[in-house]
Amino acid sequence: MKRHYINKKYVDPDGGAPNYRNVPGHRVKMKVDLRRGTVVKPTVSWHVEREASEDDRFVEDPQFDVRTTPTTSWGRDVDRHWLTLTIGKVLGARYTVSVKLDGQPAHSFAPFETWYRVFLNVNAGDAYLYGLFSKALSGVKKIFERACIAIEENEVTVAGTKTKEKDHSEQGDRGARITVTLSAADWYPFSHNVVVKIANRAVTEPKYATLTGDTLRLSIAEICRWKASPEHLTSITAKGGAGTLATVGRDDVAGVSARVDNRTLTVDLAAQALAPVQAEIAAGRAVEITLATGVEQFGREGGQGGAGYANIKLWRQAELTLFGKTQTSAQIAALVAHEVGHALGLVDRNASEAYRGTRNVYAFTEGGADERRAPATVSKAHPRKHGPEFGGSGHHCTFNTHRVDDTSTSSKKRVEVMDGMKSCVMFHSTLDRVRDEGFCDTCIAHLRRVAAAR
Ligand SMILES: [Zn+2]
Ligand SMILES: [Zn+2]
Repeated sequence: MKRHYINKKYVDPDGGAPNYRNVPGHRVKMKVDLRRGTVVKPTVSWHVEREASEDDRFVEDPQFDVRTTPTTSWGRDVDRHWLTLTIGKVLGARYTVSVKLDGQPAHSFAPFETWYRVFLNVNAGDAYLYGLFSKALSGVKKIFERACIAIEENEVTVAGTKTKEKDHSEQGDRGARITVTLSAADWYPFSHNVVVKIANRAVTEPKYATLTGDTLRLSIAEICRWKASPEHLTSITAKGGAGTLATVGRDDVAGVSARVDNRTLTVDLAAQALAPVQAEIAAGRAVEITLATGVEQFGREGGQGGAGYANIKLWRQAELTLFGKTQTSAQIAALVAHEVGHALGLVDRNASEAYRGTRNVYAFTEGGADERRAPATVSKAHPRKHGPEFGGSGHHCTFNTHRVDDTSTSSKKRVEVMDGMKSCVMFHSTLDRVRDEGFCDTCIAHLRRVAAAR
């Protein structure tokens, strides 16, 4: 008497190698060859189990397709049994599939988990900006791993030249494409140029500028209309009787000027770039210095819903020096994670679509009936979302924040990070006090649902 013998195999019918991290909506196929013995043919039953999680009610039923084909393999008669499983659209769902013959212990396939892949097609204005992004990329990947999203850099274009080609590896086409555009912070001129006239070693106009030694001091409170947005110099040009004495452009202006506080800007006439100006003033001759002022704008606007884009503005070192600010890789990683989060549909203003889900254990026996519970319907809305009426631009996460009075918003309130706390990366500002792990648990859970459902 010969027993029946099985040979099991895990295959990927959508192409590529089976992966521990499988993409939702993708089919995973299990194959079992039952070599016929001489005893009574056993019944083959399949068992699919999904590990229980807080997301249970959101996970859709996987779809099964079970079939049997008699065939021959290695010269023997076998019954070939297939189970095709289409994975539900929630990330981080762990599945174990096993197959059982009557009277034998269950044979398990390697467990797998649902992950989503996000390919970033990076378009950088120049190599400096791309360098900043590159250093921050590992931080971005780490932030998204908690949501079971693998971030991968795909195509890279720097200053119009493609430096990295598309990934054509296996499974290379599965997942979302997000275009990340890196550009330098915008500088918006907010005022007319300030023309400072100097004669006989003293400022003759305007009255809110003074000259003390080599320091030219400008009271910007006199010209600033946007008190909350500190302005700064974007360029300096100086001319004397014989023509242009010096020109200092945006990239170098930080080296010769300083922002003392919200009310004062200074220009150091002893700086090398302004040496001809200093000499002219020292000689008592007339000099006219034009100071161009501006306001910086950065980190604006990621994609929305399925739009699949993230526009990211980064500061150059010269600009940081001017503001006395830092821009660490962790801050850039938070900024990129924030905008990519928007691009994946996180805290989407229109999120009202419902999910349907059921349960986490499924049994299927050929010819038998499976048991199913009625699906539950759950709203997709983000429970911690706040709109621009409480500050910021667009919809954001209120984790660890409270409301304070602010007459500049339409609600007369603004959300602010609580003392001693750190915000979620989806708060409307990622400049400071963002938690190291990035997203709050609500955003992680939300991302696991919205990203896969795109
Ligand atoms: Zn945002
Ligand atoms: Zn959050």
